[in-house]
Amino acid sequence: MNEIFTRIQHLDPHDAAGILREVINYYGDHVVMATSFQLGGLVLLDMVHRLDKRVRVFSLDTGRLPEETYQCAEQVRLRYGISVEWVFPRHDAVETLIREKGMYSFRESVGNRKECCGIRKVEPLARALAGAEAWITGRRMDQSENRREINIIENDPVQPGRVKINPLVQWSKSELWEYVNAHHVPYNKLYDKGFLSIGCECCTRPCQEGEDERAGRWWWEAPEEHKECGLHFTRGEGI
Ligand code: SF4
Repeated sequence: MNEIFTRIQHLDPHDAAGILREVINYYGDHVVMATSFQLGGLVLLDMVHRLDKRVRVFSLDTGRLPEETYQCAEQVRLRYGISVEWVFPRHDAVETLIREKGMYSFRESVGNRKECCGIRKVEPLARALAGAEAWITGRRMDQSENRREINIIENDPVQPGRVKINPLVQWSKSELWEYVNAHHVPYNKLYDKGFLSIGCECCTRPCQEGEDERAGRWWWEAPEEHKECGLHFTRGEGI
């Protein structure tokens, strides 16, 4: 694993396509790409598609996604001809949660919110990543305070031996849009309605000018609380 860290350290940290090429060459069938059809993920999907069409791409369908996300996913399917692997939560866990706590328990406390994210995202993610040695994400440093410290390649705290690859760490939002426009990449139309970060419909709102990119996620929670869903936390913080 150290070898890939060294290889990536010698690359231009802004050259996302070059980083992806190195990672795909190194990991072959053992690298997967996660996307929620947000801007960064779409840029990476376009780059990955140009490099190697065999890379496995998956997305988590929480059951609460906005219609616009499905429309975007369908555009991606038609444009690139790829079969995105949709991963769903365990139906028995969702049924129990709804039966015991109702449809909006996540609004009642951070603990309840993490419980819902745990059932609808974190557990399905673990299944999607089973057997993978590396996964590609669209995370960037400028998305929020929580993400200032992320690196291009980092050990996955949940699974020893697995790494997370974040090729867009140093990209800005405006650079993503430049790429999307230059390459006619399909994008989620909620961006045209003031959304800056897009997750479940019931947990995402549009943002105001100057707000953090992730301010529209779980907006009812206090600002000092983590604006993450557990997908990118350590095991202890995640759920
Ligand atoms: S974002 Fe909201 S609805 Fe989606 S899994 Fe998390 S708490 Fe549940």
